[in-house]
Amino acid sequence: MQKVLETLIYLQDIDTQLQRLEAERGDLPQKVKELADEVEEMRNRLAQKIEAKNSLIAEKSSLDNDVILLDEQLKKYKVQLYQVKTNKEYDAITLEIETSEKNKEDKEFRSLELEESIGKISEEIKELEEQLQSQQALLEANKKELDEKLEKTHEQQQQLEEKRKGAAQKLSRQILSTYDRIRKARGGVAVARLIGGACSECSSRIPPQHGLEIRMMNSLNYCEVCGRIVVWTPDSSEE
Ligand SMILES: [Zn+2]
Repeated sequence: MQKVLETLIYLQDIDTQLQRLEAERGDLPQKVKELADEVEEMRNRLAQKIEAKNSLIAEKSSLDNDVILLDEQLKKYKVQLYQVKTNKEYDAITLEIETSEKNKEDKEFRSLELEESIGKISEEIKELEEQLQSQQALLEANKKELDEKLEKTHEQQQQLEEKRKGAAQKLSRQILSTYDRIRKARGGVAVARLIGGACSECSSRIPPQHGLEIRMMNSLNYCEVCGRIVVWTPDSSEE
């Protein structure tokens, strides 16, 4: 019976390692996905900013073009001004000049405002591009780590499963099925230890008489509270 109990302890150790591997692997794809989503979101933001910048540039270039046309128009008016023959004509052209100058000033002012906005958005784009670059590098590194870890845990898992198979063969079908049933019902842990007079998993006190039986290691003993198999190992005795 002592051999059986030792096999159960060994089996539990393997199952705990297998559970840990699964948990470890479970988190990584999620992390990579989150990073990929962030990169995607940054790319979209960057594309929007570039689009906004382009439309500001187009607006500015159209205004600058208007200013050139108004300048030409103003030159023509000024030539005409020297050729007028009546006061009425003079007043009409003077009014045209004033209106065009005002119009030109407005457009120049707006063009300056746009130039400022373009400068600002260019800075934002540059900053975002830098962020995106480092985020992408992070994503690549994480992807690589994930691939390596998946490969590594896969190997470890195969090795552990081999060991598990070997250990399981040493147990009777009945004891193995009891072990598996408790393990599934109790969060992956079927074997508890007697430590300081208590069950190591649920911390319930174990009556001294029952504790003595457990220490003898010649029968299957169960925790009366959590139902796990309780064993005693010298290294766990006085903790
Ligand atoms: Zn217990």
